[in-house]
Amino acid sequence: MTKGTASMGKKSGKKNFIRCRRCGEPTYHITKKKCSGCGFGNSTRMRTYSWIKKRKRN
Ligand SMILES: [Zn+2]
Repeated sequence: MTKGTASMGKKSGKKNFIRCRRCGEPTYHITKKKCSGCGFGNSTRMRTYSWIKKRKRN
């Protein structure tokens, strides 16, 4: 073992996130069975917060 935690050390190996079938983002956690992007698996409503500011298209 080397000193400290290797950069991206724990990110190697199995992937935990796959593409979510509701929001289409690669934020669906396989082991948790929840999407961190839209809240799929966690709630029926879309995960949204007031501090999320969507870009306005003119
Ligand atoms: Zn999602």
